[in-house]
Amino acid sequence: MTARILVVDDIPANVKLLEARLIAEYFDVLTAVDGFEALSICQTDQVDLILLDIMMPGMDGFEVCERLKADPHTAHIPVVMVTALDQLADRVRGLRAGADDFLTKPVNDLQLVSRVKSLLRLKALSDELRVRSEAARSFAVGEAFEDNGAEENARILLVDSRPSSQERIIKTLKPIADIMAVSDTQAALYTAGDAPFELAIVNGVADSFDPLRLCSQFRSLERTRVLPILIVAENGDDEMLVRALDLGVNDYILRPIDPNELIARCLTQIKRKRYNDLLRASLNQTIELAVTDPLTGLNNRRYLDNHLTTLFSRSMARGRPLSLVITDIDRFKSVNDAYGHAAGDEVLKEFARRLRANARGADLLCRYGGEEFVLIMPDTSEELAAAAAEKLRAAIETEPFVVASSGQSISLTASFGLAFRSASILTPHQLLNQADTALYQAKNGGRNKVVAAAA
Ligand code: GH3
Ligand code: MG
Ligand code: MG
Repeated sequence: MTARILVVDDIPANVKLLEARLIAEYFDVLTAVDGFEALSICQTDQVDLILLDIMMPGMDGFEVCERLKADPHTAHIPVVMVTALDQLADRVRGLRAGADDFLTKPVNDLQLVSRVKSLLRLKALSDELRVRSEAARSFAVGEAFEDNGAEENARILLVDSRPSSQERIIKTLKPIADIMAVSDTQAALYTAGDAPFELAIVNGVADSFDPLRLCSQFRSLERTRVLPILIVAENGDDEMLVRALDLGVNDYILRPIDPNELIARCLTQIKRKRYNDLLRASLNQTIELAVTDPLTGLNNRRYLDNHLTTLFSRSMARGRPLSLVITDIDRFKSVNDAYGHAAGDEVLKEFARRLRANARGADLLCRYGGEEFVLIMPDTSEELAAAAAEKLRAAIETEPFVVASSGQSISLTASFGLAFRSASILTPHQLLNQADTALYQAKNGGRNKVVAAAA
C-alpha cells in the first residue's frame, strides 16, 4: 500500500525515527516541525494520513486536529495522535478534537505499521466512494464528519467466551453502544447475519472457538464483508496479531484494556463505517436516479440504450431469439388538452403500471420518451412476442383510466410496433428502427393495433 504520510513533531529526533520506520515500509513521508507548517502542507499537498505530536510550541496537536477536522478539504484525512505514555486525559481530548487513533511514545513498530495500514485501508475505501459520489454532486464532503459524538448508540457484536471479560467490555462500552454478546463461532455467525451490526469485537484468546477462523469467515460472508473487526489480544501475542491483520481485521487492543482506548478505537471504526455506508448509499441512489424515470419509476432511455446493446449481443452470441415492442399511447395530446397535464401524468403512471403488470420478470421495460414505452423480451419468439403485445394492447383498451383527483374516467388505446432479431438485423439500432416503422404502420392503419415488422 503506497501512501503519503505527514509526520508532525517539534523534536527532530522524533521525526527522524518515525520517518525511517515508515520509509522502510515504502511509505512516502512528509515532515513538519509545527502545527502551522502541518496545516499549510495539508492545503497544498495530497496527504493520506497524519502522525501528530500533541505537545508543540505555538499551536498544540489538539488545535491542529480541530482545524483539520473543521475544514471539509482535510476532514477526511485520518489523524493519529502521538501521546506520551499514560496520558489518559490526552486521549479523551484528542478524541474530542476528532483524532482517529492514538499511539503512545515510545512508538512500538507493530502498532505503528498496523494502525497506519488499517486507517489507510479505510481511507482508500472512503476516497473511492467519495470520488464517485462527488462526481454526481449529490453529497456534501465532510458532512458526515461534522457531527462529533453522533457515534453513540452503536450496535456492537461482542464475541468472547469468557464471562468476566465479556462483562468488563460491556460495562465499558455501555455509554456508547448497544452490545450483543455471544460466546462461540456458531452464535457469532448466526447473530451477525441477523442484525445490522457496526462493529465486531472478537476476543483473540478463546478457549472454545478459533478467533482467526471466525474473522476470516466474517470477511468472506456477504452480510459481514465490510463489518469492522476489533480484536482483543494479550500483550506479546504479536504473531496472532500479524495474522489477524492479514486476514482483514481492522484494529486491535491489548490487555489489560484501557477503557478510554477501547472506546476511542470503537468510535474510530464506527465513525468510518458510517461515513462509508453513507457514501455507498448516496452512490447507489445516484446510480439509480440516473437510470430511472421519476414519473413512472421505470428505467429510462439511457438505461435502455445500454442494456439493449448487452441483450442484443447476448442473443447473437447464443443464437437465442430476441423481440422488442414499442408502444405509443393513441391521441394522448387530447388527454392533456381535455383533462390537464396533471391528469395526463396520472394516466402515464397507470399506463406504465399496466405494462409492468403484464410483462414478465425477465423482460426489460423502459419509458422511451413522453408517452412511448419499449419492452425488450429476451428468449422470446415472434409468436410469443406477438401474443404478449396483444395482451398489453387489451390491458389498455379494456379498462378505462380513472383520474384519482377528479374521479373522471378516460377510455384509452395504444398502438404497438413489434420487431425480432433476424439474420438481416445486425445492430440494436436496426431492431429499434424496425419496431418504430411497425409502430408507424399501426398508427396509420387506424391505431389500437399491434403490427409486426416484415422479416
Ligand atoms: P398519436 O396517436 O399520433 O400518438 O397522437 P398523440 O397525441 O399521442 O401524439 P403526439 O406525439 O402528438 O403527442 C404526445 C403528447 O404527449 C404531447 C405531450 O404533451 C404529451 N406528453 C409527453 N410527455 C408527457 C408527460 O410526461 N406528461 C404529460 N401529461 N404529457 C406528456
Ligand atoms: Mg401518442
Ligand atoms: Mg408520441
